[in-house]
Formats: sequence, structure tokens, C-alpha cells
Amino acid sequence: MSFVLNEKIRNLTPYSPVEGEYAVRLDANESYFSLSEEILSEVKEAIGKVDFNRYPDPFASELCEAFSKFYGIDKNFVTAGNGSDELISVIMNAFLQKGDKVMTVTPDFSMYAFYASLAEAQCIDFFKTNLEFSVDNVIKEAKEQKIRVLIFSNPCNPTSLGVKREDMKRLISSLDCLVVLDEAYMDFWDESLINEAEKYDNLLILRTCSKAFGLAAMRLGFAVANKTITDVIRSVKSPYNVNSLSQAAGTVVLKHADYLKECTDSIKKSRDDLYKMITALSEKYKGKIKPVAPVTNFVYTEFEKAEELFEFLKTKGIAVRKMGTHLRISAGSEEENRAVCEGIDLFYKS
Ligand code: PMP
Repeated sequence: MSFVLNEKIRNLTPYSPVEGEYAVRLDANESYFSLSEEILSEVKEAIGKVDFNRYPDPFASELCEAFSKFYGIDKNFVTAGNGSDELISVIMNAFLQKGDKVMTVTPDFSMYAFYASLAEAQCIDFFKTNLEFSVDNVIKEAKEQKIRVLIFSNPCNPTSLGVKREDMKRLISSLDCLVVLDEAYMDFWDESLINEAEKYDNLLILRTCSKAFGLAAMRLGFAVANKTITDVIRSVKSPYNVNSLSQAAGTVVLKHADYLKECTDSIKKSRDDLYKMITALSEKYKGKIKPVAPVTNFVYTEFEKAEELFEFLKTKGIAVRKMGTHLRISAGSEEENRAVCEGIDLFYKS
């Protein structure tokens, strides 16, 4: 007798982030701000008050309240997760049964299809044309295919483009499947539906503290939806999914609205600067570099010899994300943006 892995997990490999030491890390769309000294000392104080021998609050009530206040929404429609990544897994397990169809719009965040396959759902790709999709075509396809869950990021990782609020509303109200709108990068744009989530019976919005708020280490994500959907997520998630340290620290940070808005504005400026610098390089090396005008905290660019450029940047201590013929470069500090652009210039010069 021998133990045999089942089919859905047989060929999986553990997630491997970029390995090695890099002076410049622009590969994971993190914030280049860590916490200010003042907030950090408040965080330490809050962590000092945690009852380490007790399980966390299963509903992360104070944290959800701070999140709700920040966005001006009702806390009863908010559920916290161990990163939005965990919530994607919870959603797939909750709203899909074996064989149900999930639609993703490709290219998009790879974890959607991954968690859908673990939930034994059938994943249908809707392929974008020139990095964008027509809302009407997605509606048509989702109806024809009898999709149960439609999930995508808006603005999109990796394309850095977004769908406007009015188009999004039309999409949601034209469908009777669950629409999961991952707004991980919406703090860098202004077309959110977070304030209207509870009005729809089929909308679930995901947010994260890992991008604009610079809290990737704490693993804090949120689901926002009407009462029925919220109750499902709260019932399906593991009871103590967000640890007490992250709850305490996140509550402190989310109360600093002005600080978070300042950080977000600086990141937006850095993103615009990076885009301008890459655009200048695209004019210098005509036809070899094609950046997309972004609404996120990263710049997505098609490069001639993307693979070689990616490897070259690594030798200069710069990590970015390679995606086929494109590189996704997170907006960094002034020095980091300069370093990556100097690296690109050097590569094409030689
Ligand atoms: N959604 C999208 C679109 C993302 O790009 C990411 C992270 N790269 C996540 C969700 C996961 O974020 P978190 O850190 O909250 O798990």
C-alpha cells in the first residue's frame, strides 16, 4: 500500500517569492514607507496590552470598526481576514461547489484561479484584448457560461488599468452571479464601490492594508458586502483567523487617517514620477519600451528582451516582477525609482 496524492494537489509547488538579497525591492507592490516613529511607539504600546494567553477576538471588532471609520462605511458589513489572500480562499470555498464555474479576466492576480482549483471549481478565463476587457462582453460570456463567481482586481494587477465606477455598476447589476471585486489597489485611484457594497445582493469587495497602508507584514485584508454575504464569510472563515497582534496594531494604524492619506499621496506621486521616467526611456529607445499609464502603485511595461533585462537588473541588486514580455515595477522611493531607471538605461545602452 502506498499513499497517493489526489489530482488537484499532485503537481503543486510551494509559492516562491523572489529569492536572494536585493538592495532595491520593487517586485511585490509593497509600500516603501514603514511606520513613522510616533505610530510605531503606539503600536508597541498596544501590543504590550495584548493578552497573549487568550485567543483573538474572532470578529476583530475594534479593527473592523477602525477600518469602517476610515472609509465611512458600516462595520456590520465588514469582515477581517489574514490578508485578502485568505479571504479569496474563504470565498472560493464558501460560494462554490465542486464543478461550479468561476470566471477570471486574464491576465489578473494568479491566486484567484489557484484557490478556485483547490475548491474543485472549473475556472473559465476571459482573455483581455490589449490589456482591457469590454464590460458588455464579460456580461454576455458570464451569462452564457452560467458562471457562479466572477472575480477580478480593479484596478488590475498586473495591467495597472481600471474599470470606472459606472461601468462596474452596470456589470454587477446585469449579472446574478457573485461578483468579487478585488480593490487591493483602489486607494491609488478613485473609482471604488466600497460605500455601495451593501446595496447589491451579489457584490463582495476585497481591500487590503498591504499596499497603500504599508502593512504587508501584518497580513490584514477585509471583505465588504451585504449582511447575507458577510454572515457567510464570518461563518466559513476559521474562527481566529486574524491574530491579536495584527488586530491591535492594525487598529492603531487605521486611526491615523491623515498619515495614511499622506503616504498614499506620496506613493501616487512616486508612481507618476516612475511612469514619466520610463516614458522618457521609451522615447530614447523607440519601440523597445512600452509603458502603460497606471492607476495603481506600479508601472506595467512591455520591454524588448524582458527576460534579459530582468536578469540584468538582478545583477544590479534590483528586483522587479517579470510577467512574460512585461515587467511590473512597483513605485519606490526617489532613489529606488532612479536606480531601476538607470539600470534599464544601462541595459539598452550596452
Ligand atoms: N489582490 C491583489 C490584486 C493583489 O495584488 C494582492 C497582493 N499582491 C492581494 C490581493 C493579496 O493581498 P494581501 O497582502 O492582503 O493578502
